[in-house]
Amino acid sequence: MNAKSLRLGLTAVLLPAMSAWTQYSSPEAIHAAIGPVESLSPELRRAFTPNEDFKPLPKPGENDWLAIQPEPGQTYRQFVRAKPNKAAPPREVIYLQPLDSFTERDPKSLLTLRAFTRHFFRLPVTMQRPVDVSRVGIAERKNPFTEQRQLLTPDILDYLRRDIPPDGYCRLAITNIDLYPEPAWNFVFGQASLSEGTGVFSFARYDPSFYGERPDAALARLRSFKVLAHETGHMFGIEHCVYLLCLMNGSNTMEETDASPIHLCPVCLRKLQHSIGFDIAQRYRALATFYRQAGLVEESAWVTERAAYVSGP
Ligand SMILES: [Zn+2]
Ligand SMILES: [Zn+2]
Repeated sequence: MNAKSLRLGLTAVLLPAMSAWTQYSSPEAIHAAIGPVESLSPELRRAFTPNEDFKPLPKPGENDWLAIQPEPGQTYRQFVRAKPNKAAPPREVIYLQPLDSFTERDPKSLLTLRAFTRHFFRLPVTMQRPVDVSRVGIAERKNPFTEQRQLLTPDILDYLRRDIPPDGYCRLAITNIDLYPEPAWNFVFGQASLSEGTGVFSFARYDPSFYGERPDAALARLRSFKVLAHETGHMFGIEHCVYLLCLMNGSNTMEETDASPIHLCPVCLRKLQHSIGFDIAQRYRALATFYRQAGLVEESAWVTERAAYVSGP
């Protein structure tokens, strides 16, 4: 895996670069990014067909990710050539490490996050016992603007790296506490080290209550699912998607996060399926049941339809 460290959700001011969008969102470019499918089974061919179930990526607004971060996209072929890590025995377990203050807010949330991750990636997921960050050497501060508590991300990555179980594919910390990557920065949504299989993501800013607005637990949960699946997707070497509306689209604003779906486009689905080898229709069916039970009606309907389409006549 490449030795790459990512900081997530940072805003930079650069000149607008629309070329990626115009160049990669055409039907020809999307088919080229998916790559040849003729040798695949009929089920996989259907799964990787960019039909009307997948919405086009709208032209980016001036504050949107693709206007600010001119990313070239990553075709399926480029992904395979980069020899990304595959989750397989003996290293196939996704470890989730909660940091503080989870159970007091919603005791069921950790079980739900674990179940979501398991169904999304079709891999074993272990939820580790929440740790008290003040006991494990993680620096913290009070943000001078928001006056909210924040944790220092490099300390968290150090902590995670010290104890990755032998069967661990990756170890990801999740927290409701806000984060900062170094003292000069205001905040960061998360940070990950692909080479070490470690990452940390904060859900703090996903509930409108962070900004003094009315709490919206359902919205916060949907956003938490999205960020967890998106960032774990990066752990498999999947880069930002520039082809269709997709979970792996880069996001510079909360509006963009909300506009991106919780599912993968055919390009990114093909990458994840390459790394994990799951049965696509079975995965959609498991997600349909999970979303229905979690009250995510639209998402449940979408994966149910996809399961039927992929299974074929
Ligand atoms: Zn990302
Ligand atoms: Zn995609």
